[in-house]
Amino acid sequence: MKELELYLHIPFCRKKCRYCDFISFAGCEEMTDAYVDAVCREIQTTAGYYQDRKIVSVYIGGGTPSILSCGQIERLMQCLMSSFRISGFRAKRRGLYLQKKSLPEVEISIECNPESISHEKLKLYRRLGINRLSIGLQSTDDADLKMLGRVHDFNTFAAAFEAAREAGFSNINIDLMQAIPGQTLAAWKKVLFITGTFHPEHISAYSLMIEEGTVFEQLFREGRLDLPDEDTEREIYYYTRDFLEKAGYRRYEISNYSLPGYECRHNIGYWTRADYLGLGLHASSMINNVRWKNTDDLSKYIAGAGTEEREVLSRKEQMEEFMFLGLRLTDGVSRKEFFDLFKQDLDHTFEGVIPKLRSEGLLLSEGDQIRLTDRGMDVSNTVLAEFLLTS
Ligand code: SF4
Repeated sequence: MKELELYLHIPFCRKKCRYCDFISFAGCEEMTDAYVDAVCREIQTTAGYYQDRKIVSVYIGGGTPSILSCGQIERLMQCLMSSFRISGFRAKRRGLYLQKKSLPEVEISIECNPESISHEKLKLYRRLGINRLSIGLQSTDDADLKMLGRVHDFNTFAAAFEAAREAGFSNINIDLMQAIPGQTLAAWKKVLFITGTFHPEHISAYSLMIEEGTVFEQLFREGRLDLPDEDTEREIYYYTRDFLEKAGYRRYEISNYSLPGYECRHNIGYWTRADYLGLGLHASSMINNVRWKNTDDLSKYIAGAGTEEREVLSRKEQMEEFMFLGLRLTDGVSRKEFFDLFKQDLDHTFEGVIPKLRSEGLLLSEGDQIRLTDRGMDVSNTVLAEFLLTS
């Protein structure tokens, strides 16, 4: 049976962070009920097309999914579980229960922010079969959190993390943000050290990007954002890798680290071009090399509007994506897999590029695998751009 990943978008947050350009709305709590109804409607009208697919992962992202009330998240999960073929689950009239003999093979993640986590919600998540939490921390320093426009402080995070462990979660990601305004290497070392004391199974450490339309972009344009210089940014980046590797985390993607066996299955699906179905506002899907996106207009979505953009990926685009996405993974890409998919030789397709990058020490070829070197990872944007095909 062919596999499928599901993504559900919850576009609500308590407050807009100053760097964020995601589709998320602050102060719209009164719309969450209608939104959950709209997502349930989309699930019910869509699921019929995918009954021949086995769902291998569900990712509830946002926004801040933990902002939903217990009743709302239960309604959403119940609808999802009773509509799709999700292994290890059966729907009951008054709730969802794991089938006793069959533990879920499926990874079900939910993104949470510390200020909206509660014991009650965590217990419910467990009962609903959610088996992975991704908590947005960003920094352990309260002054940083304030500057980023986050709602929570460090103590709120610490209490939320402890509550998650108490509730039985054994697969938790912590999101961190590096190279933020005013950050020194010494300050970042402290952030990483403190984060490490929680022993999460997974850490994502992305560098701050200045995105259009954000408060940070405005400050940047006015010259009022004190970003670390390039050398400090590099030092922070290398330190992250070295510190986390010494602590037992493996970097498996440019910005993602995990203890062995705790890599995020859902995200690996994106990087290996697995089929995924996105549900909710502005959610993207890619199935059988057709990509589409839902509307980004909240009122229209609630009123029942669906897909707005649809694109069939050409063979050239598929091959480029195979490389751009696959080379983000430290394991790289497989020549055999490329041949099985496209019936042509990878080295021949990217003739000239691979020997050039190898001679520059940016790429390694090891048997069937091609992967970026550490140096190649450092300059991945430039390296990956080399895989654009001209014809
Ligand atoms: S909590 Fe996340 S999605 Fe919401 S505004 Fe902040 S960064 Fe954006």
